[in-house]
Amino acid sequence: MGELDGEAAFVTGGASGIGRAGAHALAGVGAQVMIADLNAVGAAEVAEEIRSAGGTAQSVGCDVTDEAAIQAGLEATVEAFGGLTLAFNNAGNALGQARIHETDAADWRASIEVNLTSIFLCMKHELAWMMDHGGGCIVNTSSGAARVPAPGRAPYSAAKRGVVALTAQAARDYGSLGIRVNTVLPGVIDTPALRSNHDDEALDRLRRFLPSGRLGDSNEIADAVVWLCSPGSRYVNGQALVVDGGGILA
Ligand code: NAP
Repeated sequence: MGELDGEAAFVTGGASGIGRAGAHALAGVGAQVMIADLNAVGAAEVAEEIRSAGGTAQSVGCDVTDEAAIQAGLEATVEAFGGLTLAFNNAGNALGQARIHETDAADWRASIEVNLTSIFLCMKHELAWMMDHGGGCIVNTSSGAARVPAPGRAPYSAAKRGVVALTAQAARDYGSLGIRVNTVLPGVIDTPALRSNHDDEALDRLRRFLPSGRLGDSNEIADAVVWLCSPGSRYVNGQALVVDGGGILA
């Protein structure tokens, strides 16, 4: 018996990195998991990995900047598992690097869409379902950049700080309805996205900078997500949990 037996989870960005680890971890403690990702093939592969390990999972192609696609993904979750009790709104990216005066307005808008508006759109429909069906639990992925901006990433840092505010707002407005909403702020985590942006030398520089002396593992974020979805955190609501091995000083 797992501590999330019978729960039905919607996980965005579940085909890779932190989302994939989160999907595996939630399924590992009994949750039924719908893996939603722009990369429909990758999402299907992760669902198959989970089923091969004895868990329950399905997948759906979903662009989290598209409200209709989110609604379709959530409907698929309810249809597959008979409900929606957990959501891990995790998809996002840190594409592009420029200081503010060099940032194209279109790049700004694209980053806000995928990193912040997506969280609003997912929560809008998740909360509507959960408030009518006995409550639930939502975890959003922000970033350490919400606290300490990464150089040259204004839209990303602003969006991720927005996720912290939106999370607190949702907890304030829906806490009395049996819904908890928290956010994780990962530090520097070893994922395909990180590796695509950093060569070996840059990764070594990061390791030397971090008090832990190493990059974080996606499973270390997934463990925090499972805890935030579990009864053990039942009095934790609206919080921003930094999971970074001690790297963020502010
Ligand atoms: P990742 O390995 O690239 O995984 C992200 C997944 O999300 C990919 O499968 C990606 O698909 C998908 N995705 C991207 N845009 C999407 C969209 N519009 N709709 C649906 N799915 C989409 O990245 P990660 O490092 O695990 O990052 C996951 C989250 O953690 C992000 O929100 C990121 O900002 C946050 N984060 C990461 C770190 C880190 O150090 N890795 C630190 C702090 C916060 P494609 O591959 O097809 O694009």
